[in-house]
Amino acid sequence: MSTAREERARAAGEADRLTAQGVSGVVLTMVDTAGITRIKTVPVSALPDAVRWGVAMPPVFDLFLADDSVTGGGLTGAPEGDLRLLPDLGRLTPLAAQPGWAWAPADRHDQRGTPYPGCQRLFARRMTERAAERGLALRMGFETEWVVGRDADPSRSRPAAGPAYGMARFVELSDYLRDVLDALVAQGVAVQQLHPEYAPGQFEVSVAPSDPVGAADLAVLVRETVRAVSARHGLTASFAPVVEAGAVGNGRHLHLSLWQDGRNLCRDGDGRHGMTAVCEAFLAGVLRELPALLALGAPSAASYLRLEPSRWAGAFQCWGPENREAAIRFVAGAPDADWAANAEIKSFDAAANPYLAVGAVIAAGLAGIDAAATLPPPVVGDPAEVGGHKRLPTSLTEALAHFERSAVLREALGEPLFGAVVAVRRAEAARFEGATPQSIVAATRLRY
Ligand code: GLU
Ligand code: MG
Repeated sequence: MSTAREERARAAGEADRLTAQGVSGVVLTMVDTAGITRIKTVPVSALPDAVRWGVAMPPVFDLFLADDSVTGGGLTGAPEGDLRLLPDLGRLTPLAAQPGWAWAPADRHDQRGTPYPGCQRLFARRMTERAAERGLALRMGFETEWVVGRDADPSRSRPAAGPAYGMARFVELSDYLRDVLDALVAQGVAVQQLHPEYAPGQFEVSVAPSDPVGAADLAVLVRETVRAVSARHGLTASFAPVVEAGAVGNGRHLHLSLWQDGRNLCRDGDGRHGMTAVCEAFLAGVLRELPALLALGAPSAASYLRLEPSRWAGAFQCWGPENREAAIRFVAGAPDADWAANAEIKSFDAAANPYLAVGAVIAAGLAGIDAAATLPPPVVGDPAEVGGHKRLPTSLTEALAHFERSAVLREALGEPLFGAVVAVRRAEAARFEGATPQSIVAATRLRY
């Protein structure tokens, strides 16, 4: 554990390095309860002070909705008080598509310097530590999907008309996609794939797995990099769950594998498709809790316009090997690649706060291990056609009701995180009560 003085000295060194690279300022990010990335920036010269004392940011952000209105939610003291954003120096990254700027994700402490229990990033870290106490490590990675347009409504202004997964769509935006790739690589992001997706104008980038907090940090960095490159090309990027009512939307699937003593527990076991019993119990815990987890992983009214059957979005509470319609797709991987076996949670989208998502998934999985939970038989084929599988919640209100009843998530999140989620989801659901799909899409398309 380094002392505050050492940390400050380290930050001074980093600040010098950034200045030499022509960086003027550092942007500090947090992701709020509604899934919006909110920021403060400081000049590079102020980085050492920011690392030592933090940058003021009030707790009221926890009660912001995606449209910037603020809900009271019955929580006391929301307008008062202050917190400190503390940049994580280990993640400090010059931003390739925003020359002159660097980025660092931040934790939140109170004014006495104590970790704030409502900090989403610290929650993800707490759950990672909870797994580590049992000798377990998680490798996680988000897939980012987005739709490009020429203006505020990408569905009416497609810069790329080429077909799904098509070479033609890639050729149309070749320079843009090269710049996306170059910017990510320049920032040290281990890109695995970049390709045109199913929906018109849609693309996807996937990155190598990392630790859970790192995966959530990368979700923030990847999205803002894509957004910045898009802006430089005169394009808008929509990461919202749905950009066009009634069509395939943007997911942000979460891949995970479970490790113990350097061994991937998703393979070489005696269970189904090579799973170990611990892996099966973890996934069973996640599957069981999934209706409640959706309040975190699919947190917008728009999420439920995406989460429809037969759109590869994972609308049913089931799992299956390599099944793109199952909420949990199990990937057995290849015999010669021990890292490859993993499970993909398909139901999540990019309105989610990635820190809450990874932390809550770990909590649900560990509860599954505690209960020695087992998976039901896997689904074969499209669950919408084979029948017999439960639909996941079809509205934010329904997901919230499951969340409020989830003892596992309530305990793991603790107050005030649990309360903030309930307050914000309630307010978001009320905001869109009775709204048409079109108006939900229009209100959320460019918010995330
Ligand atoms: N766009 C789909 C979704 O909403 C996912 C497509 C895929 O399987 O990658 O999740
Ligand atoms: Mg995809």
